[in-house]
Amino acid sequence: MNKIQVHDKNFEILLENETINKRIRLIGIQLNVDYENRCPVFIGVLNGSFLFMADLLKEVEIACEVGFIQVTSYKGTESTGKIKETFGLPTDLRDKDVVLVEDIVDTGLTLKYILEKVYEQNPASVTVCSLLFKPKALKGPIDELNYVGFEIPNEFVVGYGLDYNGLGRNLKDIYRAV
Ligand code: 5GP
Ligand code: MG
Ligand code: MG
Repeated sequence: MNKIQVHDKNFEILLENETINKRIRLIGIQLNVDYENRCPVFIGVLNGSFLFMADLLKEVEIACEVGFIQVTSYKGTESTGKIKETFGLPTDLRDKDVVLVEDIVDTGLTLKYILEKVYEQNPASVTVCSLLFKPKALKGPIDELNYVGFEIPNEFVVGYGLDYNGLGRNLKDIYRAV
């Protein structure tokens, strides 16, 4: 399906599942090399990262820990910048190599908030792996953003974990609003 409707909005295909999975395989290979013998902790940022986290971690073959954090900030299609932690960091991160797994970095405000929380625990290192990145929406540099699946235009997207007012997370492809 190339065109879909979610609530009142029309969307067209941006990234097919096959394209997404090919890219994820490559990121996995890179993580296996970069984190060999480091036993990193992968922390998925819920809800949006749930499919990416699952597919990515299937490509990670090194020893690792897995956890999640849940934050909410978005209402509709605009970032509110007001972030609320609804589900906290899972393990003690002291001296650990942390890999934060995000669905998308838009303004970067959510990530800044989460990074602060993670650094409070004195980890050995922190890196961010985001499936999508909108460079034109970013409100300040994020040095930790070392793994990006796709840079996309500054447009609202749904699918593959990302929702529009609660719907669309289960779509296996990624669509952009038209
Ligand atoms: P940021 O704080 O970087 O502006 O974005 C935070 C969160 O807003 C993302 O993790 C994601 O859940 C949501 N978000 C940002 N851009 C989009 C988008 O284009 N589509 C959807 N569905 N959610 C987005
Ligand atoms: Mg997110
Ligand atoms: Mg959302």
